[in-house]
Amino acid sequence: MKPNFKQKVTNWGNFPIVEKEMKSEDSLSKIKDFVKSNNEVIARGNGRCYGDASLGENIFSTKRLNKFISFDRLNGVIECESGVLLSEILEVVVPQGYFLFVTPGTKFITVGGAIASDVHGKNHHAEGCFSEYVIEFDLLNENGEVLKCSRTENSEKFWATIGGMGLTGIILSAKFKLKNIETAYIRQESIKAENLDEIFRLFDESESWTYNVAWIDCLQKGKNIGRSIMMRGEHAFRHQISGKIAENPLRLKKKPQPTVPFYFPNFVLNNLTVKIFNWLYYAKQNRKEVKNFVDYETFFYPLDVVNDWNKIYGKSGFIQYQMVIPKEKGKEGMKKILETIAKSGNGSFLAVLKLFGKNNPEAYNSFPFEGYTLALDFKVNSKLKKLVDDLDKIVEEFGGRIYLTKDSMSKSTLTNYLKNVQNPKFVSLQHKRIVNNN
Ligand SMILES: Cc1cc2nc3c(=O)[nH]c(=O)nc-3n(C[C@H](O)[C@H](O)[C@H](O)COP(=O)(O)OP(=O)(O)OC[C@H]3O[C@@H](n4cnc5c(N)ncnc54)[C@H](O)[C@@H]3O)c2cc1C
Repeated sequence: MKPNFKQKVTNWGNFPIVEKEMKSEDSLSKIKDFVKSNNEVIARGNGRCYGDASLGENIFSTKRLNKFISFDRLNGVIECESGVLLSEILEVVVPQGYFLFVTPGTKFITVGGAIASDVHGKNHHAEGCFSEYVIEFDLLNENGEVLKCSRTENSEKFWATIGGMGLTGIILSAKFKLKNIETAYIRQESIKAENLDEIFRLFDESESWTYNVAWIDCLQKGKNIGRSIMMRGEHAFRHQISGKIAENPLRLKKKPQPTVPFYFPNFVLNNLTVKIFNWLYYAKQNRKEVKNFVDYETFFYPLDVVNDWNKIYGKSGFIQYQMVIPKEKGKEGMKKILETIAKSGNGSFLAVLKLFGKNNPEAYNSFPFEGYTLALDFKVNSKLKKLVDDLDKIVEEFGGRIYLTKDSMSKSTLTNYLKNVQNPKFVSLQHKRIVNNN
């Protein structure tokens, strides 16, 4: 009889929660056995996708694929197993004068997850997706073979796996390029925008900056719709910083990392508390424009400061809804989306607007294309599905699409840009949901 490894598994949004088999192995033969002996398998990294993308009938956790393989300090090339976290890579490479070319808003994701979702950062308009810097990876396929995949070797598998959401196999290890930095600090400018016109103008003016992102207060209505703060940044050069931080420019002091100790009761986060939070966030910056230097953790990973912050949404969990709207229709589309949210009474605690640049047509499964992307967190409640349906309609009307790694309840037509991943062996709950909805 097969032993029972079933356990409760959920990703960052704590929605959905499923009881499934989950196993982690570090020897190739045991990983092959797991794949061979189960009908439907899906890889799971650190579960930082929000919904059901890395949930399945039989989950292979890459937690134990956590070893570094090589680090070429001269050329800035690193190779590691797929379960290594970006945070672990940064600890090793930043003191050596290197950084990730592309990083999402949390450093607690694995290299496998970064490739499978082809993650983007605040610099897509300037530097593209994570895959731009991937040299090669090893993929365990449905036949138990390990394929070396690169732009020249098994290239069709290489491109299908990038943004392929784990549906082409298990990425075992990867080699990718890093960028040079002189300091661990960012030269940052934060600028307040009163409304959508102003924030879109700021995005236009900031295209020459490597990093830019805006936090939006999405409960504002009428002439204040789009009230926001734009944050743009560049890696600071050595000669630009001074004082204490200049003594050791590539090392950051360890900061205390508080943890949210329990799930907040449901009533804590409501429209009023979101309104107060948004007001405080906007008011905290008392000048129109602030220029300063911040460490890379503060700039790239403000949410990582508090462990388990997802618990503030309570036990019913939350979703993240992220869409992209083509650039030329960006302002009009965002206006309609923000109006719909403000009317719905579902406040979003966190709303982030970014600009995507041109997509790489070879990486056809990647989510980004040239346009504006908005990511919104919503607490799960009885009104949420209706709001998601309404937002889906607007995204469709404007020719946009939804980011699969955040999705847990969107319309399948907005997520079916995924191609060449049909495979009876590697199946996620998300993919089943999408296929059944068609
Ligand atoms: C606070 C926060 C901020 C975020 N900000 C951004 C952002 O700015 N930009 C962005 O792009 N994303 C962002 N994300 C999403 C996150 O980067 C992606 O969901 C990422 O894929 C999570 O990686 P993971 O290792 O946790 O993998 P999981 O969440 O476990 O899995 C994600 C997908 O990758 C697949 N996968 C994982 N490992 C492997 C493997 N070894 N082989 C094959 N497939 C695999 C899974 O099957 C699944 O489809 C954010 C998430 C959080 C929680």
